[in-house]
Amino acid sequence: MKMRLQKFLLACSLLMMSAIASAAEPLPIFDAHMHYNIEARSTWSPQRVIALWRQLGIRAVLATSRPNDGTLDLMAQNAPDIKIVPFLRPYRVQPDRHDWFANPEIERFVEKELQRGIYRGIGEFHIFGKDADAPYMAKIARLAKARDLWLHAHSDEDVIERILHHAPGVKLIWAHTGMSTSLDKVEAMFAQYPNLVGELSFRSDLEQNGSLNPQWKRLFLRYPDRFVLGSDTWVTSRWDDVPQLMAFYRRMLSELPADIAEHIAYKNGLAMFGLQ
Ligand SMILES: [Zn+2]
Repeated sequence: MKMRLQKFLLACSLLMMSAIASAAEPLPIFDAHMHYNIEARSTWSPQRVIALWRQLGIRAVLATSRPNDGTLDLMAQNAPDIKIVPFLRPYRVQPDRHDWFANPEIERFVEKELQRGIYRGIGEFHIFGKDADAPYMAKIARLAKARDLWLHAHSDEDVIERILHHAPGVKLIWAHTGMSTSLDKVEAMFAQYPNLVGELSFRSDLEQNGSLNPQWKRLFLRYPDRFVLGSDTWVTSRWDDVPQLMAFYRRMLSELPADIAEHIAYKNGLAMFGLQ
């Protein structure tokens, strides 16, 4: 009887210790959709950004900034505990987002930026409807495929299919997973295009009545290696929301088996870029 009690107490203390450890170390996060745009620079120094990431357990980021100097400045901090995966953003100034795919100056700008030899992908770029048939969109998709770069597209589902038609097999992060694309359509596209990864910011249907939407849960269980998280700090005020956003993601992921939660939180992002 005494032995049994001792075993019981030992089991209790081990349980408590693991609970304390997990409380102290929240699930690490790979933020696969962030921007360090010029407007944020006066309030958010690179040091302040790094400090925020440390505070929130963000261990890696996919950085895409307008202009690209923002990303370069974050990399120059050389924070040993934060991995920064730079993407080439094809925007010099805000209005470029509307016509970058039809502007020869952007083509020259992208060519020059690529010479840095540091970028792992191109994006986030915005493109909708038939604009995706612009010759430069097709060219950049083929260039990405040829150079083993990712694309990061903020697009409707129709555009995603056009891009994948231009360059079959190109690796593509779908910003916001279409934002409002029906989940039936998302599921069909994930089945059809194995190189498509969904980023989850601004998907307002992730939760229903305060818990994980069952249709999303099914998608996560079916494709645990195909989703990543993002803050999408597209306007300066969004930086203030990053703590709540990360708390939201951790709460949502807590409804999934631990290994799948870890994959979506950070392991998928690391694996996509050959990091550990
Ligand atoms: Zn964005």
